[in-house]
Amino acid sequence: MQKVKIPRTVDPARAAQKRLDFDGIIQVSLFKRLEESVEGVKRDAQVSLSFGLDEQRLVVISGKANIEVDLECQRCNEVFTHECEVEFTYTPYYSEKSEEDAPEEYDLVDPNEYGEIDLVQLVEDEFILNLPQIAMHDEADCSVNSDNMVFGELPEEVVEEKPNPFDVLKSLKK
Ligand SMILES: [Zn+2]
Repeated sequence: MQKVKIPRTVDPARAAQKRLDFDGIIQVSLFKRLEESVEGVKRDAQVSLSFGLDEQRLVVISGKANIEVDLECQRCNEVFTHECEVEFTYTPYYSEKSEEDAPEEYDLVDPNEYGEIDLVQLVEDEFILNLPQIAMHDEADCSVNSDNMVFGELPEEVVEEKPNPFDVLKSLKK
């Protein structure tokens, strides 16, 4: 199957009028900021985007995207692969009115000076925002497993050093 590249920028109003859908990839080399936030970006992102107008005639950009990144586990310091999946709904910020009209579930995105949206930046922002706060393996896959962590148990030596009360009695009898 041929991979279709998602356009870098789109005029959302025009795309919405035409009800355009995009299904394709964004190349891994375009995710410079994501690359800096993780240990590595493993592959191209798969992206699907739909442009349309809602009942208020607001331009709506809805989409889904996924990518695989390497993260460092904060428990065992090993690198593991994390699949990042995002879903989003945006409306372009044209004026304060866009913000007032937009339902809560819409995010706002600023068009550039040509009235276009940078789709790479939009998808990349979503990936970065959805990275785990603390990267960690699933417990079953992590080499530091919680069974090996000992809390609240006294090491044996300490227990042995406790004086035996009978020893004290013995010394008194002498
Ligand atoms: Zn781990």
